[in-house]
Amino acid sequence: MYDDIVELAKRRGFFWPSFSIYGGFAGFYDYGPLGVLLKDNIIRTWKESYMEDGAIFLDSPNITPEPVFRASGHLARFSDLAAECEKCKSKFKFESVLAFNKQDIIPANLEEAKEMASDTYLKCPVCGSRITNIYDFNLMYKVSGDYYLRPETAQGIFVNFKLLFNYNRGKLPMIVGQAGKGFRNEISPRQSLIRLREFNQCEIEVFLDPENLEFKSLYDYKKIKMKPNTGEELDITVKEAFERGLISSQAFAYFVLKTQNILENIGIESSKLRFRQHDPDERAHYASDSWDAEGLIDNEWFEIVGIANRTDFDLNNHQSSSGETMTTKIEEREFIPYVIEPSYGIDRILLTLMAQSLETRDGKNVLKIPYPVAPYHFAVFPLMKKENLKEKAEYIYENMKKQDKYIVYDEAGTIGKRYARQDEIGTPYCITVDYQTLEDNTVTVRSRDTAEQKRIKIEELLDLDFINSYIYKK
Ligand code: AMP
Repeated sequence: MYDDIVELAKRRGFFWPSFSIYGGFAGFYDYGPLGVLLKDNIIRTWKESYMEDGAIFLDSPNITPEPVFRASGHLARFSDLAAECEKCKSKFKFESVLAFNKQDIIPANLEEAKEMASDTYLKCPVCGSRITNIYDFNLMYKVSGDYYLRPETAQGIFVNFKLLFNYNRGKLPMIVGQAGKGFRNEISPRQSLIRLREFNQCEIEVFLDPENLEFKSLYDYKKIKMKPNTGEELDITVKEAFERGLISSQAFAYFVLKTQNILENIGIESSKLRFRQHDPDERAHYASDSWDAEGLIDNEWFEIVGIANRTDFDLNNHQSSSGETMTTKIEEREFIPYVIEPSYGIDRILLTLMAQSLETRDGKNVLKIPYPVAPYHFAVFPLMKKENLKEKAEYIYENMKKQDKYIVYDEAGTIGKRYARQDEIGTPYCITVDYQTLEDNTVTVRSRDTAEQKRIKIEELLDLDFINSYIYKK
């Protein structure tokens, strides 16, 4: 499925490797015309869903001065264990060398890794020589002077905490989101959008009173898949997971459920979505607890959203490093807020969505993504390139566009090929002007999911209610 999607994505204009005329550079991908629409729709779904909970948003720079990352711990600790083969000079994540050598124990730090490499003959996955050079590799890109490209959007929010808190009229909980680029000098970029060096993040920072780690109430009828670090995967409600002590706070449980709901609305299948808790030595340096939402593609689980309990780690560090207070006062109590962070990787979500949505009908691809997220809602065709049919189809296209911009017009090729093309890019409905249209002003509306057609009047199509009932089911 993964290979089919990567091929389809390039051929149909969703995404492809960047800079390919110069041979391509690992870890960079372009979004083509359909990918841009799909990505924006995913981000809109995320944004509107958090707006329901009162979120506010920020847009801060990609280029960030060093003191920010000195304070946040990224300069010292945002690194991967890397290995270089001294013979063939290939570089790897140390983890992948271990996997290649069938070693299950992951060392916790550089010392342990070096010890392991001196005790065990670890073969280079490329030339088979012994790997001895192990080192910490910082994942941040340094740009000129003392500036870095941000590896996450979150720090922009933390350094602006006071201004945002004042804007929010001194109220907690406060939810702040930022959609933007993150940059990581990944040692081994892989699998198209899975591990990129420049990627799209949508991060949410939820600021809470540490004595009141609660958010809205949890409803308890929906079971989700959760895999705690202490045991087997469970089908469980987040309420139960919280009550059994698997999740550290009520608020954390709320944002796990919220993430499940957002991902389902985007189109990730609930049976192919789970939450896996990190082992303590797997967590990022700022997290006291982390759960990853993982999506399934081809029997492999991938992290698509990371939810971390960042406590007061970041605000505390920025307070001591900058001298600016991050302390807030609510009802005579002074404290530094606690932070829960659901961090959404948009590229991985988009890839998972496409891979999970691809089906075949009569040997042809059908991309069954939810209607509101699809790049186009409708395609309008004249049955043939005859002037009277074209005129009518163009009229419908121009006038439907007044209600809904996500419409495409196509008159090239046979009608069967045009349907196949729209099925493959996920367009929910195709509207065709045929000879009967000229007699009674009706057109056919063909469904992507069933390939069934029905006739409807043109005047109905041009009504906003039609679009709402077909696409948004309102
Ligand atoms: P993290 O801050 O590492 O928890 O990342 C948050 C989310 O960003 C992850 O769940 C991924 O979906 C996404 N992400 C992180 N690193 C990359 C990368 N190198 N390429 C693509 N997406 C990434």
